Amino acid sequence: MFIDGAWEEAASGRVFETVDPATGKTLTTVPHAGTEDVDRAVAAARRAFEDGPWRKLTPAQRQRVLWQIGEGILARADQFAQLESLDNGKSVTVAKAVDVVWAAEIFFYYAGWATKIEGRTIPVSVPWAPGSRFHAYTTREPIGVCAQIVPWNFPLVMAAFKVAPALACSNTMILKPAEQTPLTALLLAEVIAEVGVPDGVFNVVTGFGDAGAALSSHDDVDKVAFTGSTEVGKKIVNAASGNLKKVSLELGGKSPQVIFSDADLEAAIPGVASGFLFNHGQACTAGTRLLVEDNIFDEFTAGIAEFAKSQKIGSGLDPTNDIGPLISQEQLGKVTGYIEAGLADGARALSGGQRHGDTGFYVEPTLLVDVKSDFSVYQEEIFGPVAVAVRFNRDEGVLAAANDTPYGLAASVWTRDVSRAHEVAAQIKAGTVWVNCHNAFDTALPFGGYKQSGWGRELGEGAIAEYTQTKSVSIAL
Ligand code: NAP
Ligand code: MG
Repeated sequence: MFIDGAWEEAASGRVFETVDPATGKTLTTVPHAGTEDVDRAVAAARRAFEDGPWRKLTPAQRQRVLWQIGEGILARADQFAQLESLDNGKSVTVAKAVDVVWAAEIFFYYAGWATKIEGRTIPVSVPWAPGSRFHAYTTREPIGVCAQIVPWNFPLVMAAFKVAPALACSNTMILKPAEQTPLTALLLAEVIAEVGVPDGVFNVVTGFGDAGAALSSHDDVDKVAFTGSTEVGKKIVNAASGNLKKVSLELGGKSPQVIFSDADLEAAIPGVASGFLFNHGQACTAGTRLLVEDNIFDEFTAGIAEFAKSQKIGSGLDPTNDIGPLISQEQLGKVTGYIEAGLADGARALSGGQRHGDTGFYVEPTLLVDVKSDFSVYQEEIFGPVAVAVRFNRDEGVLAAANDTPYGLAASVWTRDVSRAHEVAAQIKAGTVWVNCHNAFDTALPFGGYKQSGWGRELGEGAIAEYTQTKSVSIAL
């Protein structure tokens, strides 16, 4: 682990294995953090925040540090991509082109913010002090020691979402990667150490959910930022209540893709399919509920099924493969369990419908039709390459179906009618709506959930708000 600028074992000496999902074999072992290690990391982050040189850096110096981290990631792009592919199972090509490039881009973007975290001057008229004059202004100050708990689906990118804005705003932090994918977080620590970030500012503890829980309930942590399941998100809210630390949450989704009959089907078929197959469906924004206008339903779903069947399944290290393994044996069981439940409920698989092969954790890209709204495959987040398609009738509308979920992370609308696109976008209850695309992210655009998909916004200016607090200063002249 990386604590207070040094590479450390767990105090207990315990380690755990991280596995290559393409083979099921152990890659290596990493320290298994316990409460003592969490306490040590929090104490280091506290010292670095209160007494270290970090907060004395000028904004321009912080800007340079963030930029250098971005450069450091790109300088090791191949190593990051290989490691992400080995640990997570995703395609090494995608890891390099998307995960690594985007992670670097996030540091470049927040490098720009470091010099632009500004307060305001506010004219005041204190009513019970007639005749007095004041000069009042606000400043944006860091929150302090931040715990950052991230999942396994985009390990490096999810770390960058949290670490870059937290550094830009002068916080200190403890990153807890998912137990399945600790390796790129440790390589990121190497990059951050190389560019001269002071000891204790950035720490990594590798461990299980109990380490995350210890961070979330820790009285000396000022903020917890979490990405993962809604279930664990709720536990974090409870754990944070002891010292009322700030909480931001980016949770699950069951994102609809609404396809109108006037959509450009040639673009919409691969676009919608990629919208639920990207990262083998292990994306919080995966567009897994297809709502298709009834007069194109058969043609459209046949097109999606054909696309799904054309996908080449295999190890992420082979650049010709499209669909890699799921993250773990457990996730394989969960996803195939959902497919079996859907089929038992009466759904029909137009493509896929089962595990692929008998080594590694592969699932066939699966499209289910004949699905009713009370089926678990329709209601719940599956987190695998599985979508359901249902019909809608234009006269009856589609919004009730699109919003029929406790989640509200993302949605997409496919149509050539610009008015309809705007109307539907306005009425979908989700933090992000894409039109004629899905998963088109940009670091400048705020990202987060309506309803049970989360609290707060990451990316864009939203993350600066999450990692600062406002102070009002009022001076009697
Ligand atoms: P998870 O349990 O929510 O894990 C996310 C992170 O939280 C991991 O670092 C995890 O550590 C940590 N954690 C676990 N229990 C904790 C606790 N009580 N307090 C604080 N931190 C805790 O997600 P998962 O088990 O990996 O995946 C389960 C489901 O979550 C998936 O099937 C999917 O539906 C959803 N998910 C959503 C996203 C998303 O981006 N929204 C990402 C991944 C998963 P450990 O790794 O050690 O458990
Ligand atoms: Mg692994």
